[in-house]
Amino acid sequence: MAPDLLDTMMSAAAAVIRDNAEALTALDQAIGDGDHGINMTRGFAAIEAEKAAMAAMALPEALQKIGMTLVMNVGGASGPLYGSYFIAMGRAIPPDPLTAAAVAEALIAGALAVQQRGKSAPGEKTMLDVLVPVADAVRAAAKAGTPTADMLTAVRDAAACGLESTRDMLATKGRASYLGERSVGHLDPGAQSSQLLVESICNVVAANLAAAKVEDV
Ligand code: ADP
Ligand code: MG
Repeated sequence: MAPDLLDTMMSAAAAVIRDNAEALTALDQAIGDGDHGINMTRGFAAIEAEKAAMAAMALPEALQKIGMTLVMNVGGASGPLYGSYFIAMGRAIPPDPLTAAAVAEALIAGALAVQQRGKSAPGEKTMLDVLVPVADAVRAAAKAGTPTADMLTAVRDAAACGLESTRDMLATKGRASYLGERSVGHLDPGAQSSQLLVESICNVVAANLAAAKVEDV
């Protein structure tokens, strides 16, 4: 991936987390301990601070470095989980060329790593309720040969639907599970941060597609 594109993605991800930190914290206050916004802001600020070095790396190494930075800086349950996600993606993705099928494989590997690390599965009101449908949407688009612009729409929809699906779920993993039935009726904070990250990355790809800086895959 072009260094400037990866650089832009890291800035966009850090900005969306920073801009929504209070909202993430409010969600975590409702069903957790109210630190998700702070945790994520700390992690993505650390990524932004080191982004020049990471953008210069090949994509597999850059993703693994992003993951390690999150493990070291996020804190809370979400740190090791997001960390595992990016590290597994870095291990699964080929350096070049970047095809939709390769991205799908990496996203699936990332979601599986979260499941292993968290001993969790989709349907338990966690970030997985966004990360798994997003991986599935990219895989389906890659199989069907869907043009990238349409794939981005499908991915955004999958993330938004996945996030919304957490509202009526009963939390059975993480701190929210301590609330039992009282967790129902609230969006999951980790699913919200995942949806925001997915949306911000889709926006960067879409802008670069329009500027013909990203090839249709
Ligand atoms: P903590 O729960 O330690 O305070 P955060 O508030 O930063 O950490 O992150 C909470 C989010 O982490 C939850 O909203 C959920 O999406 C995610 N999470 C927690 N436990 C798990 C798990 N076992 N598997 C997947 N995701 C989890
Ligand atoms: Mg928390």
